[in-house]
Amino acid sequence: MSDDKPRSPIESGCPDGFQYIHPVMRKNYGQWKFHEHPKPGVLRHVAYSGDEIWTVRVGTQRILDVFSLRELCDIGDEFADGYIHFTIRSNVEYMVSDPAKVEPLIEAITAKGYIVGGTKNSVAMLSHTQGWLHCDIPGTDASGVVKSMMDELIDEFRECNMPNRVHITTSCCQINCGGQGDIAINIQHTKPPKINHDLVSNVCERPSVVARCPVAAIRPAMVNGKPSLEVDEKKCICCGACFPPCPPMQINDAEHSKLAVWVGGNHSNARSKPTFQKLVAAGIPNNPPRWPEATAIVKNILKAYKEDAKDWERINDWIERIGWPRFFEVTNLPFTKYHIDNWRGARNSLNASTHIRF
Ligand code: SF4
Ligand code: SF4
Repeated sequence: MSDDKPRSPIESGCPDGFQYIHPVMRKNYGQWKFHEHPKPGVLRHVAYSGDEIWTVRVGTQRILDVFSLRELCDIGDEFADGYIHFTIRSNVEYMVSDPAKVEPLIEAITAKGYIVGGTKNSVAMLSHTQGWLHCDIPGTDASGVVKSMMDELIDEFRECNMPNRVHITTSCCQINCGGQGDIAINIQHTKPPKINHDLVSNVCERPSVVARCPVAAIRPAMVNGKPSLEVDEKKCICCGACFPPCPPMQINDAEHSKLAVWVGGNHSNARSKPTFQKLVAAGIPNNPPRWPEATAIVKNILKAYKEDAKDWERINDWIERIGWPRFFEVTNLPFTKYHIDNWRGARNSLNASTHIRF
């Protein structure tokens, strides 16, 4: 055994981000006069001091292998003053203070097969959660859905042809991260969990599993002489919240875990209140590796939005103007009983379905 003492942890948390910011941005932090959009994928910010910074935005697949990362960093070192920045939607941004460096930078990026775009009224990169790669509870992949859809939407990322910006998200389980945007592709479980009673007593803390259920559908039970759990399937809303603390409550299913598409979510801003997304397509096959059914629905919604919305209307503004019945007409999506929130607590949440508004 080595006699070396273990290294003490460094208790300083995240490093100070300012040291990684382009010097012109650091100097003018909070002192920007205006910005403009010279062309898709490029932004120009001008500071009160007269300094300028040019940003070039590049789409990535988010889960990056080390070779791609090195390639992107090498481009930054050679063509972009040695700085690189990741956005919340998994884009890479390069910043240069000299406008003469913008075109060589774009040429270097595109020569390596990356795409420039995602600014202003384009379809930005889909943001996604972890999926099969990292998380322990996903019912679908997220990276795969994003890759398949962005392959189909690449022209909408490269160009600025939408009435306003479009943010699309994915969520690979029904309850946790992700899944709120202009268009959201979310997992939808359609059957209650199937319990492996042999494992429950070894793996699960039964009281915490019982406490997780939002509709009190889980009860402790003795099964085959062992402590286990049982689910009142009439009450269960198939949310999957019991699965993370108790993997023997298996809810993921190749056939019954579906995808659902929700639209119209938006944060509040200076002019409007936040809006919640609403379910518009349910029971879509969770069909890897290319998810063609879900992709076709998303493309269809985008096509209708592009043709029918007025300039500057986000998807929620457009639907607010035309109404949900017209939305279903122009997108050709069927309105079914699954769109109606018939949960017994719906008295308080009817506003969440598309069939009623007040
Ligand atoms: S959405 Fe759910 S399954 Fe996907 S990464 Fe988040 S917690 Fe995990
Ligand atoms: S899936 Fe949701 S509603 Fe059903 S038993 Fe589990 S926690 Fe309760």
